Amino acid sequence: MAVYKAPLRDMRFVLDEVFKATEFWQSLPPLAEVDRDVVDAVLEESAKLNENVLFPLNRTGDEEGAQFNNGVVTTPKGFKEAFRQFAEGGWIGLGADPRWGGQGMPKTVTVMTDEIMFGVNPSFALYPLLGIGAALAMSQHATDEINDFYLPRIYSGEWAGTMCLTEPHAGTDLGIIKTKAVPNADGSYAISGTKIFITGGEHDLADNIVHLVLAKLPDAPAGSKGISLFLVPKFMPNPDGSLGARNTVAAGSIEHKMGIKASATCVMNFDGAKGWLIGKPNEGLAAMFVMMNYERLSMGIQGLGASEVAYQNAAAYARDRLQGRSATGAKSPEKPADSLLVHPDVRRMLLKTRAYNEAGRCFAMYTAKYLDLAKYAEGEQARLAADRVALLTPVAKAFMSDRGLEGTLEAQMCFGGHGYIREWGMEQYVRDTRIAQIYEGTNGIQANDLMGRKVVKNNGAYVATYVAEMRAAAERLQGADVAGLKTAFLASVAALEALTQAVIARAAGAPDEINAAAVDYLQAFGLVTYAYMFVLMAAEAAPKKASDSFYADKLALADFYMSRVLPELDGRVRAVEAGAAPIMQFAEGYF
Ligand SMILES: Cc1cc2nc3c(=O)[nH]c(=O)nc-3n(C[C@H](O)[C@H](O)[C@H](O)COP(=O)(O)OP(=O)(O)OC[C@H]3O[C@@H](n4cnc5c(N)ncnc54)[C@H](O)[C@@H]3O)c2cc1C
Repeated sequence: MAVYKAPLRDMRFVLDEVFKATEFWQSLPPLAEVDRDVVDAVLEESAKLNENVLFPLNRTGDEEGAQFNNGVVTTPKGFKEAFRQFAEGGWIGLGADPRWGGQGMPKTVTVMTDEIMFGVNPSFALYPLLGIGAALAMSQHATDEINDFYLPRIYSGEWAGTMCLTEPHAGTDLGIIKTKAVPNADGSYAISGTKIFITGGEHDLADNIVHLVLAKLPDAPAGSKGISLFLVPKFMPNPDGSLGARNTVAAGSIEHKMGIKASATCVMNFDGAKGWLIGKPNEGLAAMFVMMNYERLSMGIQGLGASEVAYQNAAAYARDRLQGRSATGAKSPEKPADSLLVHPDVRRMLLKTRAYNEAGRCFAMYTAKYLDLAKYAEGEQARLAADRVALLTPVAKAFMSDRGLEGTLEAQMCFGGHGYIREWGMEQYVRDTRIAQIYEGTNGIQANDLMGRKVVKNNGAYVATYVAEMRAAAERLQGADVAGLKTAFLASVAALEALTQAVIARAAGAPDEINAAAVDYLQAFGLVTYAYMFVLMAAEAAPKKASDSFYADKLALADFYMSRVLPELDGRVRAVEAGAAPIMQFAEGYF
């Protein structure tokens, strides 16, 4: 049977020792009241609820899947009760503004509860997540009247939310959507069109569903500058919040897919459905980006959570499974064979996965710190933090989900053939994690965003401040214990800096160079970023090394990463340097 324990000690290490959370919160007046003891209670409770209630529903949810019957979507057995418990525990509003019934916890807390939730049950996690994302976009773009009415109901779990962007012919390219919004005499709009792949578009977990829909006004300019955002409720609410007539929006079917089978992915038909404009006409895409940026870090965390649960199961299996003998002589001569842990290649798979998880956890917290700064700091500090968030969001989404999936694959391989069999659950982690690379903009599109908008467009300005920060951080590594770490890290930073300058120079006047370089550049960026995370962790662990093997292990894992994972950087650099020509030399007829 699959096992999972929330990695609370590792989380506390990152939170308290690496990021000094209490000092950080106290430096920001709106967060000064965040109580470390309360945060601890939140972590303990989150672990309990997720391990005991949501984790057991992961496998059964996968087997049963969401069901569609004549427009009605039923979630798997147990989901409804679990969602109630989740909502009543205040988990949907954990990071929300208390004005709307939230608990006001910073992102530096919710990244940890998100990791736990995605680790135990990603299909379930998507239902509250979509509501939280929709509420976030509304809170920044809708009127007070709309927010005061809708947001408390979303954060309490009474109502759920969706984001309706994709259409059959328009996924990455939202500029060509066809859904129309025609003004009604009463100030509302009639929305008509078909959206596909809508997560949680219809289900039985909440009384009402609030759809945020991208559509075009009759006089809208062509392309992405002509998209507006609308709020379309499933049931028209009465002024007292009770439900009135059913709106003309309905699920036409649900998708049968590779993974996250308990998450309903719906075709949604809008047939003159009544909706209200959110924000300004034709500025819907910008409003939706608030939601998408929030979701993008979450998709990276989905990869992290999956890789963590996969690691825990693979490590337990490798300890127990007896196969072959150690090359250096039997380690358990009294047994018929040694455990898998004697084999260097099994250790390599486990350590790689664990290195991704520990660096990924630290990186999620690092990104969360800048999200908190962008939201709660003021002036220049907030502006610089927003720049850092802009730079890191595509990396957090793509690199964390890429390495998360790789972690699930390595962990699955530790099981040999048993990893391919349903019984152990490993194949589900692989299937459920693949989607994190695809939705919210594919990882190829994230790489293009990083390369084009965040690097080339500002001539490397965001990268320059990041590189300077990394070099300064390396100076915290002092002494023989960490000398090798420091040298390897500084070399990788120099390589990233040189690569950035090279691609900027080559992109001038050669439009295909950016997209050709994008994925390898993002991987190079991510590899150096994870090295940076190990530097931050090692700087805390080194002085405490003798006191507890926990810290010595952190240093050893940093050493493993630098020597066995970071060298991938060289290959990525060479691939980027080869440029677009080897890719673009083929005529279309070749494919
Ligand atoms: C399970 C699931 C849940 C989803 N949930 C939602 C949801 O809740 N709401 C919602 O609106 N959508 C949702 N989606 C849709 C998802 O976000 C899109 O599928 C995704 O963004 C890609 O769009 P597409 O499928 O149309 O692929 P396309 O846009 O057709 O892309 C195909 C391939 O071409 C590449 N490509 C496309 N354009 C470019 C370009 N300009 N430069 C370089 N490469 C390019 C892409 O990277 C991709 O590899 C979901 C999808 C799935 C499968």
